[in-house]
Amino acid sequence: MTIKANPERALRDLYHLRSIGTYKTGVHRPTLSEDDLITRHWLVGELKAIGHEAWIDGIGNVISKTPATGNKLLAGSHLETQSHAGWLDGALGVVYALEAARAVVEAGRKDIGVEVFAFADEEGHFGSFTGSRSLTGELTEADIDQRADRTTGRPLRQAIADAGLSGVPRHRVDPARYIGMLEAHIEQGDWLESQKLQVGVVTSIVAIWQYKIVFEGVQNHAGTTRMAIRKDAGVALRRFCQRVEERFPQVCGERSVWTVGKIDLEPGAPSIIPGRASMTLQFRDADMATLLRLEQTVGELVDEANAAGPCTVSWETMNKNKPALMDEGIQAALEAAGGVYAPGKHARMPSGAGHDAQMMAQLMPAGMMFIPSIGGISHHWTEDTSDADIMLGAQVYADAVGRLLAR
Ligand SMILES: [Zn+2]
Repeated sequence: MTIKANPERALRDLYHLRSIGTYKTGVHRPTLSEDDLITRHWLVGELKAIGHEAWIDGIGNVISKTPATGNKLLAGSHLETQSHAGWLDGALGVVYALEAARAVVEAGRKDIGVEVFAFADEEGHFGSFTGSRSLTGELTEADIDQRADRTTGRPLRQAIADAGLSGVPRHRVDPARYIGMLEAHIEQGDWLESQKLQVGVVTSIVAIWQYKIVFEGVQNHAGTTRMAIRKDAGVALRRFCQRVEERFPQVCGERSVWTVGKIDLEPGAPSIIPGRASMTLQFRDADMATLLRLEQTVGELVDEANAAGPCTVSWETMNKNKPALMDEGIQAALEAAGGVYAPGKHARMPSGAGHDAQMMAQLMPAGMMFIPSIGGISHHWTEDTSDADIMLGAQVYADAVGRLLAR
């Protein structure tokens, strides 16, 4: 079955969303802010206009249902943005899903349908994947009581009340209802652009493994303590970072990435030798064997540092999840659609960023499609993609949807 999108209409929708909470050439729409809610109500209106039942659930997710009794696909992404960030991160996947839902209706197919979701708080203003975790049943009422906006401190409970959503039931996804879940997103990296490609077929979403590494030394006077007798925890930390940069390239995978994102020196004063230092070390990869190899290397470097002295080093795991594998059938449908509209300009690739699709992959077959990000820039207001790439992507997405629903 061939489903044809109206790419100009999808582009118009994206420009409309860009006009809500505009910040320079990007947008500022934190979760459950006034502007964020305007976009959620807008989406509900657009879905009702094509005959869907649509509403905002008790955590802020936009949910839609079609009367279709045949194959149904769950599709969408998120509407809120990082603070002062880009106009496409999230909105793109929602608009592609909406456009595909319209295209199925316009094709006269009432037996099948695309049910569009806008997952609340993918960007984690109130934690991580708040909306998706609610849909999977993972998010408890106690979690909601504990969460607050990381910027303003407004409690999540209060934000829900302010949005008029107190007492509204939280939706749970019934996996049996769907043949699968599809999410489109900008790549947020520069790989597609660097390869002169227009469509990425996502094979997996990387796992994120993160550790806290602590160095214990002796705090002392920075002027009177001879170099030879110092136990400087800051020096031990810097050496460790250096060893990571030497060793990781020898054991990593082709697309592994690693980051020391936070360093603390205690007490943290110019004239005091740090007695204690700590750092986070995070790495990401889609391959379990590679993740295990990197983890083993961290352990070896800790042992090495302890053996060398004079400071002691310990490490603990902060976060370890599994790579989310994308469904082979959905990848094949995206590839076939790419073959029609972007011949020779599509390729399979992993996702280096986390997405709602990884949460839905716990419940049902899930897939993702990427379009290029200019200069690989994202989580910044200059984030952009050419109109041509946006419109082409809408067509590829709708075509893949048609293939999946026709099964
Ligand atoms: Zn996103």
